[in-house]
Amino acid sequence: MWLTMDARHEYFEHLKTVGGVLCLDFANTASARDTATPTERLHTYEDLTAWAERVGILDGAGAETLRQEAARQPEAAAAVFQQALALRETIFRIFAARITDAAPAADDLALLNAAIAATYPYLRLITGEGASFAWDWTDAPHRLERVLWPIVRSAAETLVSGELERVRMCQGEHCGWLFIDRSKNRSRRWCDMQDCGNVEKVRRYRRKQKA
Ligand SMILES: [Zn+2]
Repeated sequence: MWLTMDARHEYFEHLKTVGGVLCLDFANTASARDTATPTERLHTYEDLTAWAERVGILDGAGAETLRQEAARQPEAAAAVFQQALALRETIFRIFAARITDAAPAADDLALLNAAIAATYPYLRLITGEGASFAWDWTDAPHRLERVLWPIVRSAAETLVSGELERVRMCQGEHCGWLFIDRSKNRSRRWCDMQDCGNVEKVRRYRRKQKA
């Protein structure tokens, strides 16, 4: 479903980031993948920049630069947008497979590895506060695909991290959002207690009423 421009800005403004890591929040820009009509929140490269701004990948000036760049090169922007969706679905499938203890599809791992190979040349070390160092990205404000770099890195690092075994899928009906369960007793079941958790509570209550 296409939302009006205002409704879309409203969506990004109030966007919930419950994934715990960037790559899962990116996967969560779609939901209900197990239905014939999945919910899609990203329809254009501009949506991608709006999302990236909301989650802190881009600042306002960076997002504006990329929007102008996309207007200058609409075909290139459309291609990067398709790349982004392919990457997102790959990330979703790899983590969803891991949740069921399955190995990822070879194609998915290959796509992610290709994304890593395209991304990591832009990673560099900079000096931080005091004598410390920090990771940063090559200064490339006009590169349309730079929105994807932190997402690729987040996916790669989460997959080799100790948090991988804490990745869960929301148990809400037709949700499919992914998140890291950082609860102490590892009992988190919902993307958001206000959304899916609440729906489930109401459903259980109704069932009880009928019984
Ligand atoms: Zn949910």
